[in-house]
Amino acid sequence: MRFSPEKLSIPDQRMKSFIDPDELWHFINNAKADKLRVREIISKSLEKQRLTLEETAVLVNASGTDLLEEIKKGAKELKIKVYGNRIVLFAPLYVGNKCSNNCKYCGFRASNREAVRKTLDDSELKLEVEALEDNGQKRLILVYGEHPEYSAEYIAHTVKLVYGIKKGHGEIRRVNINAAPFDIDGFRKIGEAGIGTYQVFQETYHPEAYSWYHLGGRKRDFDWRLTSLDRAQEAGIDDVGIGALFGLYDWRYEVLGLVRHTNHLEACYNVGPHTISFPRIKDAAKLNLKEEYNVSDNDFKKLVAILRLAVPYTGLILTARETPDVRREVMEYGVSQIDGGTKIELGSYSDLKNEEQNLNREQFKIGDPRSLAEVIDELLTHDYLPSFCTSCYRMGRTGEHFMEFSVPGFIKRFCTPNAILTLSEYICDYASGELAEKGWKVIDKNLHTLEDGVMRTTMEKIDRIKMGERDLYF
Ligand code: SAM
Ligand code: SF4
Repeated sequence: MRFSPEKLSIPDQRMKSFIDPDELWHFINNAKADKLRVREIISKSLEKQRLTLEETAVLVNASGTDLLEEIKKGAKELKIKVYGNRIVLFAPLYVGNKCSNNCKYCGFRASNREAVRKTLDDSELKLEVEALEDNGQKRLILVYGEHPEYSAEYIAHTVKLVYGIKKGHGEIRRVNINAAPFDIDGFRKIGEAGIGTYQVFQETYHPEAYSWYHLGGRKRDFDWRLTSLDRAQEAGIDDVGIGALFGLYDWRYEVLGLVRHTNHLEACYNVGPHTISFPRIKDAAKLNLKEEYNVSDNDFKKLVAILRLAVPYTGLILTARETPDVRREVMEYGVSQIDGGTKIELGSYSDLKNEEQNLNREQFKIGDPRSLAEVIDELLTHDYLPSFCTSCYRMGRTGEHFMEFSVPGFIKRFCTPNAILTLSEYICDYASGELAEKGWKVIDKNLHTLEDGVMRTTMEKIDRIKMGERDLYF
């Protein structure tokens, strides 16, 4: 049963800020990163134990090529040990760019008068989803500005609509959300529409920096945003995603902020965030930002490796904001999900856009505009196993990242076979020629990593997929 402070008439401490900037800076300013300590911490993480704030600060302070290489090597090892070679694929779908907020870094901010404002109507949404299905997508994240039009009822409506759109063998099996925070009632309504993860990024965990970037609207309130996922939990959404927008403030502080947020959710709800996102700021219409906090490619790679080690059982999401080169390297340090075939101008998957307005409908410029097929091709070349699996969420196995990590043999019994089955569907429905050939080879290789019984059942299911059955999973 959930603790209900309102029934006991005591102030609810959980809805207050749990971030103390002095505490986070204290760790950064005092953690000594000598070789021995760094190695001890990497070993602790490889034992699959989450790191403390102090230990994370030691890694953040580590310098010198050798130590940095050891951190990256540790992250790679942990990724293989915990997650194997799967990469889950998804695509973002921008539903509406109206926004009442004024985030200095975002092309959708209210003061950007040149932005062409648009909300997809039901028939446009249908065209967009059909176009995504035609590419082979099965998992979407719906993205909205923060605006009275995008109420909880409206978001729930769009989620249900998306689940109902089928074309050929195409269907969307998991809809995640990236939208404004709601109150508990609002989160409940959206949760009841059957969403996967609800993501809210804090952008920066530093309250003063936060005030500098957020000039107007509801988003100005740091605490309201910080405690949003607590309200989601109270509303029964236990699958939540956190994130920081790197480039707004000191990256070392933001890494500790993300770990602190993770600790908070674990302490209060017994479940940490399902995913952590670490978007790096990209060029947007008339940006007005402090360059002193730009994160270099090297620091970006370091921070992803540190996050992997700090929270071994949380999914890490890397988006198409980054270029293919950066993505290729960063993926090795423990990323579990990436987007592919991404377009972020409203209406662009189905070519609803009018060329002239095109530039003013996107939030920022992406770094990886490759098609889903191209992204899959590259994953296969590098021996990754692309996956569209949505099984745990639909079987009620929530907290799947925790299971992957803590239940012995879980990956071999569920994740790898499901990745193989969803990739088989993709090949049968959307791939041909060289890509299909490459895909079957990778499937064959991965089948042989399974126990005999699981391998046999998986092969039987592949045969059924080849005969036209769909949506088979463990
Ligand atoms: N409006 C909602 C909000 O602010 O939470 C959700 C959608 S917003 C479009 C999604 C995320 O995009 C933001 O949380 C922010 O981290 C990121 N973002 C905004 N401007 C960006 C930029 N210029 N470059 C990279 N990411 C950006
Ligand atoms: Fe609006 Fe979100 Fe962009 Fe801020 S980041 S201006 S809230 S869409």
